[in-house]
Amino acid sequence: MRSGGIGDAVRTAPERVLRTGLLALSHRRVVGRIATGMPLTRPFVDRFVAGQTLVEALPRLRRLADAGFRTTVDLLGESVTHADAASAAADRYLETLEALAAGSLDRNVSLKLSQMGMAIDPALARANLERIVARASSLDAFVRIDMEDSSTVDATLALHRDLWASHNNVGVVIQSALRRSTADVDALITEGVRVRLCKGAYKEPASVAFPTKPEVDDSFAILMERLLGEGAYPAFATHDERLIRRAIAIARRDHVTADRFEFQMLYGVRRDLQDRLLAAGYTVRLYVPFGREWYPYFMRRLAERPANVAFLVRSVLRERRGDSA
Ligand SMILES: Cc1cc2nc3c(=O)[nH]c(=O)nc-3n(C[C@H](O)[C@H](O)[C@H](O)COP(=O)(O)OP(=O)(O)OC[C@H]3O[C@@H](n4cnc5c(N)ncnc54)[C@H](O)[C@@H]3O)c2cc1C
Repeated sequence: MRSGGIGDAVRTAPERVLRTGLLALSHRRVVGRIATGMPLTRPFVDRFVAGQTLVEALPRLRRLADAGFRTTVDLLGESVTHADAASAAADRYLETLEALAAGSLDRNVSLKLSQMGMAIDPALARANLERIVARASSLDAFVRIDMEDSSTVDATLALHRDLWASHNNVGVVIQSALRRSTADVDALITEGVRVRLCKGAYKEPASVAFPTKPEVDDSFAILMERLLGEGAYPAFATHDERLIRRAIAIARRDHVTADRFEFQMLYGVRRDLQDRLLAAGYTVRLYVPFGREWYPYFMRRLAERPANVAFLVRSVLRERRGDSA
C-alpha cells in the first residue's frame, strides 16, 4: 500500500503526475540513500524535520515549548526488516523519553508499529511497544501509535486494546478516509481511548476508503463532531482551515471548552495557522520528527503540496548561487 491517496480528485493533471512521482520516489531506498547524503537538500529538509539526531532536535523542541506549543516526537524510520533494527528503534524511543523527561520537555511520542517490527513478528512489536509504554508510564509520558495503511488497522487496534488493559497512557489514530472508521470511533469512545483523528496518508482501494476528497473531509467532520461530543480528549490532526473552523464552531455551540481537545499539525506545515490557533487560546501539538531516515517522510510532505517542490528548487538554486536566505 502506498502513501498519499486522498485529494487526487481535486488536483490538476500535472499536479497528479508530480504527486504520483514523488510518492513512488518516496519508496525508492536507493534514491533515499543518495538524497540523504546531499547537503543541498538540508535547508529545506530542516523545515519539516527537527534534526538528524536527538541532540539536534532537543533545542528545537525547547524553542517550540517556549513559544507555547505542545509536541509529540517521532523518531523517523518505518518498515524495519530485521528484529535487531526494531529493538534498536525501541531503544532509541526509550532514550528519547528519558531525554524529554530530563529536559522538562513535553513527554509525548508517536511511533509506527512497522518500526517496532510488526511485519516481522507481531510478538516482537508487542514486546518493543510494551517496553516503551511501560517506561512512559513511569515517566508520566504518553505514547501515540500512528496508523499505517488499512491492512494494518485491525492488528494495530488489537495490540492497542491489549496494552490498554494495563496502561492508560497509550492512544491510537483513526483515518477519516476509511469507511470502517465510524465503527472504530464508536468502540474507542466506549473504551475511553484517546483518539487522534486525521484524514489518512495512504493510497487505499475504494472498497475500504472514500475515493474523493470531499467524502474524506465530510467523514472527518462527522467523526470530529462525534469525538468532540463524547471522546476522551480527542486530537484533530489537520491543516485544513475549514475543518478547524468547524471544530471551533461545534465546540462553541456545544460548550466544549478548549481544554477538552487539541489540534495537531506537522512541524513546519502552516506555521501561520499554528500561531493563530495558539494565540486564540487553543492547544496546538506539533508532530516533530527527527532522525537520519527522513527521506520517505519528507517526500510525503512534498507530495502533499506541489508548491513545496518549487520552494525546494528555489532554495537549492539560491544556495548554489551563494545567497544566504
Ligand atoms: C499531527 C499529525 C499526525 C498524523 N498522523 C497520521 C497517522 O498516524 N496516519 C496517517 O495515515 N496520517 C497521519 N497524518 C497525515 C494526514 O492523514 C494527512 O495526510 C495530512 O495531514 C494532510 O491532510 P490535511 O488534513 O492537512 O488536509 P489536506 O486537505 O491535505 O490539506 C489542507 C491544507 O493544509 C495545507 N497542507 C497540507 N499538507 C501540507 C504540506 N505538506 N505542506 C504545506 N502545506 C500543507 C495546505 O494548505 C492544504 O490546502 C497526520 C497528520 C498530522 C497533522
